[in-house]
Amino acid sequence: MNKPHIVILGAGYGGMITATRLQKKMGDNEAKITLVNKHDYHYQTTWLHEPAAGTMLPEKTRMPIKSVVDFRKINFVQDEVVEIKTEEKKVLLKDGELDYDYLVVGLGAEAETFGVPGVKEHAYSKWTVNGARQIKDHIENCFAKYNNQVEKEEGLLTFAVAGAGFTGIEFIGELSERVPQLCKQYDIAREKVKLYVVEAAPTALPGFDPELVEYAMNLLESRGVEFKINTPIKEVTDSGVVVGEGEEIKASTVVWATGVRGSSIIERSGFDNMRGRIKVEPELRAPGHDNIFIIGDCALIINEEINRPYPPTAQIAMQMAEICASNLNALINGGELKTFKPDIKGTVASLGGKEAIGAVGSRKLYGGTANFMKKMIDNRYLLLLGGVGLVLKKGKKPF
Ligand code: FAD
Repeated sequence: MNKPHIVILGAGYGGMITATRLQKKMGDNEAKITLVNKHDYHYQTTWLHEPAAGTMLPEKTRMPIKSVVDFRKINFVQDEVVEIKTEEKKVLLKDGELDYDYLVVGLGAEAETFGVPGVKEHAYSKWTVNGARQIKDHIENCFAKYNNQVEKEEGLLTFAVAGAGFTGIEFIGELSERVPQLCKQYDIAREKVKLYVVEAAPTALPGFDPELVEYAMNLLESRGVEFKINTPIKEVTDSGVVVGEGEEIKASTVVWATGVRGSSIIERSGFDNMRGRIKVEPELRAPGHDNIFIIGDCALIINEEINRPYPPTAQIAMQMAEICASNLNALINGGELKTFKPDIKGTVASLGGKEAIGAVGSRKLYGGTANFMKKMIDNRYLLLLGGVGLVLKKGKKPF
């Protein structure tokens, strides 16, 4: 009898945990498993604000997929997914195609532009290893250029972050810590550098406790960050951002962090979707597709308590992957399907240096304690993915 073919799309938090759990749960004769990813490495998206600001080497945020996934048990295909043909049970890749019996879609998210003109052309919006390297190189280049200009270009040392959500705040936290070092390195007075965070909503870090938000904003302001809250960006241009009634903030660097939508592959493949995300059934399958699981940022689940979608997080992606692997095993080998309920353990946002804020259970965490917790969360993922060895190799030092 032919073995069923499970194809996993995307080697992010969701895809990697699904693959490593399936390689343990399923014997070679029970299923053929294929993992498809653009690159031959996996990266921790949640760390990318650090290499983007230049406070961590990009190498630290990634690992070869084969260092964690057993290629004798899982067939790895390095390629780009182009479209899913559900009726033909086929995945079209840039350089080929794959037939599947069961599919797991874990392709992550893409930047949400909200239709603001100029984002794709003029802002840095790619939260990937390559995207982070590009932001860092550009920032350093601005500093290197400054003292070589006779006529100083307006806004050359102005860095504007669009969005005061999780990603925007974590990035400006790192950048505000790095700026004094860059000023020293390139012989530039600190007051020449301007850091802005521009946010359309009435508060920074929506969803966080107001006391934690105040702590974060005060700390960042003390490092020279200027917040423009309640200020929707109308356009991004090659010289900065246009806000309000046409006021322009001249900035050579605009980093886009206003939130994400799901994957354009989902939209292209004809699934019922909301901004690239599929509202999944309780056992994480796409409605009407009993053989297709959607996990991580591609999946949409509603928090019934507030009747709003859960924000897409690595925490949820990892928990979904555990259920997805268990349900695939049950479908193939027999057993009960599990339903998914997020178990939100807390949220911690880093603010650069040794600072962070967070809420774990009913406790609010600040400063060093929150920073310690953040590192523990980052290391916990490595532990779940590759055990103690991976933590020792790639983990963050707690102090
Ligand atoms: P991802 O981890 O993004 O993985 C998707 C994978 O699919 C990638 O390997 C990608 O290369 C691959 N891929 C995409 N398209 C294709 C294609 N067409 N073909 C082949 N491969 C493809 N969440 C938290 O819980 N806590 C945090 O502190 C936190 N901090 C964050 C900080 C930053 C700077 C950012 C950007 C995000 C943060 N998040 C955080 C959100 C978190 O990173 C995401 O929710 C999580 O990565 C989603 O996991 P995923 O498996 O769905 O996708």
